[in-house]
Amino acid sequence: MLCAECLRCGRRSIIGRGNTLADEREQPTPAPAERLRCDMCGGRRVRLVRTESPTAMIAFIAGRT
Ligand SMILES: [Zn+2]
Repeated sequence: MLCAECLRCGRRSIIGRGNTLADEREQPTPAPAERLRCDMCGGRRVRLVRTESPTAMIAFIAGRT
């Protein structure tokens, strides 16, 4: 699961496209950070965060990392 955190306003969102971690590993392409923009402030400084499970993802979104 892939999440993103805006370094500008701290907005956290889910980017995951339903892929499993195994799928991610099969396609070791660089994270498309260039295309990412914060939907809150429009900032492009978005940090990608990969989580190992939906639970970890929810915890991240909730700010309990
Ligand atoms: Zn932002």
